[in-house]
Amino acid sequence: MSYFDHAATSPLREVAREAWLAASTFNPGGQYTLGRAARAAVSSARETIASLLDCEPIEVIFTASGTEADNLAIQGLYRASSLDRVVSSPIEHPAVAETVKNLGATVDYFAVSESGHVEIGAELGSPAALVTCMYANNETGALQPVSEIVAATDAPVHVDAVQAVGHIPVSFRQLGATTLAASGHKFGGPRVGILVARRSPAPAPVLFGGGQERGIRPGTSDVAGAVATAAALEEACQEMAAEQQRLAALRDKLLGALRLLGVRVHTAEPALPGHAHVSVPGAVGDSLIMLLDMQGFAASTGSACSNGVNRASSTLLAMGVPEDLARSALRLTLGYTTTGEDVDRLIAALPRIIEQAQVAGM
Ligand code: PLP
Repeated sequence: MSYFDHAATSPLREVAREAWLAASTFNPGGQYTLGRAARAAVSSARETIASLLDCEPIEVIFTASGTEADNLAIQGLYRASSLDRVVSSPIEHPAVAETVKNLGATVDYFAVSESGHVEIGAELGSPAALVTCMYANNETGALQPVSEIVAATDAPVHVDAVQAVGHIPVSFRQLGATTLAASGHKFGGPRVGILVARRSPAPAPVLFGGGQERGIRPGTSDVAGAVATAAALEEACQEMAAEQQRLAALRDKLLGALRLLGVRVHTAEPALPGHAHVSVPGAVGDSLIMLLDMQGFAASTGSACSNGVNRASSTLLAMGVPEDLARSALRLTLGYTTTGEDVDRLIAALPRIIEQAQVAGM
């Protein structure tokens, strides 16, 4: 099987698997040597992640998922504010989009260009409890103007960097955001989330319990998860510069071949190096996925959360893509396991697969 769904989950790295097994046994709350060792392992993982994301160790909060990190940040910053207005974008992942919708706040949305990039307008001119925008879109890979957004507002800013962390350099300090979310399984770690949260303004607690993780994410720490996430991020960051070049070259080769087959390409620069998001006119995305699967290729229509439902992606609709074309979406995402042979094999298989999907029709 050739795996082209790295944006959904990047396979667990060997360093992460080993780190997880070595740290999987003891409760870090224990007042004995084994408990202290477990606590020290979490502290060390926190320090590693802080140095890789350019923030302070105390700002790193381990969560159960990227979704939980987004929820704790958005709900927490909203609770910490007396204002009732939120600014967001129409291309957020459901982890952000649904959280924002359920706040009960007045929400103003940024406009989005045809290329899939957020456009900063008058939204930032009025006070807001928080502004939230993703670093990179999970479907198209488009990099968003998050630094410009932070510079243009006095409101706290939450950045969903789940697709970016581990793939392109991310500095929390330089970004200047209030909170940032990342997710281990997007860079070859386990399913562990990371919330980076400044000391002030800090998100108000949404979960209550034993006060772990600054009281923002209480619950017994997942020592093995934290240690394995740090190991995976360390390796991803070491390889990052070379991988960015290697993957962008493979992605460009793939997009070049797809263009010759008459697809519409949705991925536009600036973008992550491993995303190739297209629509195949006259074919349903789900048929393409099934035919690819039968030939040994794992791919996706885009947002994992709309898989199986065959709904047009809200990101593509916000970019002005017509609904039938949005239902023809195919997302191929490359990552650290992708080889040149995988891409060549896919390029060779695509003409027949696209033809078959178009014959099956809409
Ligand atoms: N935000 C973005 C941009 C994502 O791509 C994802 C996962 O696909 C999430 C948030 C949710 O992360 P998790 O799967 O760790 O809950």
